[in-house]
Amino acid sequence: MKKYDAIIIGSGPNGLAAAITLQQQGLSTLVVEGAETIGGGLRTKELTLSGFKHDVCSAIHPMAMASPFFQSIPLRDYGLEFVQPTIAAAHPLDNGDAGILYQDIHQTAKALGADGKKYLHLLKSMVDSYTDLSEDTLGPLRLPKHPFTLASFGLKALPPASWIAKLFSEEKTKALWAGMAGHGMQPLSNWTTSAIGFMLMAVGHRYGWPIPVGGSQAIADALVRYYQSLGGEVQTGLWVKDVKDLPEHKLLFLDMTPKQILALKGLDLKETYLHQLKKYRQGMGVFKMDWALSEPVPFTNKDTRQAGTVHLGGTFAEIAHYEKTAHQGHVLDKPFVLFAQQSIFDNTRAPEGKHTGWAYCHVPNGTEADYTAAIESQIERFAPGFKDTILAKHTFSAIQMEAYNPNYVGGDINGGIMDIAQLYTRPTLSLTPYRTTNASVYICSSSTPPGGGVHGMCGFQAAKVALNDHYGLNINLNI
Ligand SMILES: Cc1cc2nc3c(=O)[nH]c(=O)nc-3n(C[C@H](O)[C@H](O)[C@H](O)COP(=O)(O)OP(=O)(O)OC[C@H]3O[C@@H](n4cnc5c(N)ncnc54)[C@H](O)[C@@H]3O)c2cc1C
Repeated sequence: MKKYDAIIIGSGPNGLAAAITLQQQGLSTLVVEGAETIGGGLRTKELTLSGFKHDVCSAIHPMAMASPFFQSIPLRDYGLEFVQPTIAAAHPLDNGDAGILYQDIHQTAKALGADGKKYLHLLKSMVDSYTDLSEDTLGPLRLPKHPFTLASFGLKALPPASWIAKLFSEEKTKALWAGMAGHGMQPLSNWTTSAIGFMLMAVGHRYGWPIPVGGSQAIADALVRYYQSLGGEVQTGLWVKDVKDLPEHKLLFLDMTPKQILALKGLDLKETYLHQLKKYRQGMGVFKMDWALSEPVPFTNKDTRQAGTVHLGGTFAEIAHYEKTAHQGHVLDKPFVLFAQQSIFDNTRAPEGKHTGWAYCHVPNGTEADYTAAIESQIERFAPGFKDTILAKHTFSAIQMEAYNPNYVGGDINGGIMDIAQLYTRPTLSLTPYRTTNASVYICSSSTPPGGGVHGMCGFQAAKVALNDHYGLNINLNI
């Protein structure tokens, strides 16, 4: 049997990024995936009716556009095309108004009226210095290359989102902010919840919030095509339970979370390390829904009809209350809903004249509770008549999300909570958290810095460390 320089277990964006980075340096590598198709969080399937293509997990890709790793490889040449929705994101309110994230920062500021100046003051420098910022934030903790830029970002990003909200006077600005910071899947009173809000807004102004033509599967397909063009190999349909079931190899990369790593036999990790992995904490889970629709969602606010992503949940206070209470383990009936309407901008997603809807809300980790009625009522609240457009629907409870992909432990889509104590010290307290106590085993999943989202940076960073450890190579991204 062939001996590989490296085997990567898991074909999510991080597993593929690690594999590509190693293969680019001339190593012989194999990606092993348990599911029948590659992609991890990047899959698109006909979950409802024939001809309706639904993103099973990720749908909106600002972090893919902003990823230095993705920017460094020619994914366009391998079939990947993004489309930019007319409006990146909208946050409708009960009075028919909406907070709008346009790609143009000045247009956004103007639409925010009295808060426009403050908005520009907070965001403009982040947008302008994003490239420098990404060098110091999308990897492990280390001495910053751009200390002043990072310090200026840190002063704004470290405080809880609830503090930043107080800087704004208009409800629609506060609500827009709540929706952005809400992506962090934590109570908005937690430290660093502003970081994810600012990052998503800054990236939105710089790169937009695009969707891949054909669905998120198109990102995985392009990554694999590029990987195979370099000579990389892929095997699907093999759930690895014991390392000895794998072909011979020198290095092993795990696109897995601590829970799965603890269950994997043959890794030969030290007890002290295993003890740390056992203490790793998960965040909230998600309840995920997809719909086949007879027509576009009839949002009352006209701009919202042109937004790729829609945040539904009302005011800052409502969203903050929901996130805090769900985090504490309670099931509520007015969730903060993250909704996407890809078919408005990509006509490959549904039969002519028909549409798709995609949504999830944050729920207590591991709950089996059914949020179908709660999610649909939140959409109906801002789009009366929505329920009449439903042709078919599909749901995943938090527990079913984990059954679909074991990396989503209890439905947690970020590979572990990304709070201040675990943002960079994931999965263990280390300056090089990709290493394990076995010198030939590395972790490359979203349970390492910089965490959840489709950007491949965890995989790239893990491969970079291993190439240095074993081959003395010091690689950098070619962008
Ligand atoms: C509902 C939902 C919505 C999301 N929306 C977005 C979004 O809009 N934008 C965004 O950027 N991110 C989004 N995400 C998050 C994003 O999908 C993840 O952060 C990302 O996929 C993590 O990548 P990864 O490579 O670390 O792991 P994954 O993509 O989860 O891949 C891990 C892979 O490893 C495989 N695997 C695990 N264990 C084994 C084993 N023992 N043997 C073999 N194979 C194994 C799994 O089958 C899986 O294919 C969303 C996620 C979900 C679930």
